[in-house]
Amino acid sequence: MSVKQNIKNLSQDDLFEFIKNHKQPAYRAEQIRLALYKQKIEDFDEISNIPKSFREELQNNFDIFSIKIKTVRESSDGSVKFLFDLNDNNSIEAVYMPWYDNEDEKLERQTLCISTMAGCSVDCAFCATGKLGFKRNLESSEIIDQIILVEKYLRTKITNIVYMGMGEPFLNYSNTIKSLEILTDPNFELFSRKKITVSTSGIAPRITQFATSPRPVKLAISLHATDDKTRDYLIPMNKTFNLEVLMNSVEDYYKATKIPITYEYILFKDLNDTKEDIKRLTKIARRVPSRVNLIPFNDISFTNPIGPANTLKSANRQEMEVFAEELRKNQIPTIIRETFGGDIEAACGQLALSEEVKKVYNFS
Ligand code: SAH
Ligand code: SF4
Repeated sequence: MSVKQNIKNLSQDDLFEFIKNHKQPAYRAEQIRLALYKQKIEDFDEISNIPKSFREELQNNFDIFSIKIKTVRESSDGSVKFLFDLNDNNSIEAVYMPWYDNEDEKLERQTLCISTMAGCSVDCAFCATGKLGFKRNLESSEIIDQIILVEKYLRTKITNIVYMGMGEPFLNYSNTIKSLEILTDPNFELFSRKKITVSTSGIAPRITQFATSPRPVKLAISLHATDDKTRDYLIPMNKTFNLEVLMNSVEDYYKATKIPITYEYILFKDLNDTKEDIKRLTKIARRVPSRVNLIPFNDISFTNPIGPANTLKSANRQEMEVFAEELRKNQIPTIIRETFGGDIEAACGQLALSEEVKKVYNFS
């Protein structure tokens, strides 16, 4: 295991400090950061516009990559699941999803779903990642390297990022923010803020805090229930930040950013699919401009869940269509989200399945 620090974890100020200590001009910071994030260098020797002696100093002090691709699995639908090794034997996953235009089948966007934790501490009843428990938060370098390594591997430019892989981004707040600052930095032109979505199970104080961060992005709220009793059962975090507290923070977010909210709603049969749910969901979705993504429940019976997850069942396609139509009648923009990567266990909430991940987590 390397003892060097990863250069991508340095803040701008840390980098200035290092440069100053090595008697180099301040503009080296921008040269280095452009080389790391825009040129995506693998070796400091590739930064040809800085002196060789300083390149050697960088080499002696820092690593460039924080994670390694371990395995890659391609789905018949074009999505690709990447398993990464971290420096300490933990593992994480990311999923690449190509979206084609329905009419002319042109590749419209290429989305990468990235992780912010190894495992997750929230333990939602329906989520395989949650069943793994929590290993640790990812550093910002580990968050960003998922994108850089996938772009290099697929020789393509990812167009959209969703923080919807393993982990709860807002329980790893500072590293999530650090990674977003790099991804949306106008100097690097990596992603516009409109092309990034952070998904949260509802860490209300962080949503309020994120509202006033320098470059907020799109926010998805994993709602999944319209009353506290059902939400407590599905998402234990709701006992700390209940629906009213959560909705107040969502209002804070919209007021400060004017960015419409997306509510994610897994439609479970006989649990959150009643007429009353449609009424309450309509009320929730009207509080600020927003839309609803209905998601089919991806089976996680492979985790041998105990408790609620045993009895959870997805609504079928027709039931989802009916639920969506009712919401649309109430003027709530609603889509039924496509599921990618079902055949490679890469769908939402299923990131925990690869043999390697199971081994690391002693998960059988
Ligand atoms: N922790 C964050 C982001 C990662 S989970 C969050 O919870 O929002 C990404 C999305 O996958 C969330 O909307 C989550 O509710 C959903 N999800 C988790 N398990 C799922 C499953 N088994 N089937 C369908 N969606 C699932
Ligand atoms: Fe964690 Fe999100 Fe899974 Fe809940 S749904 S356990 S918050 S990753």
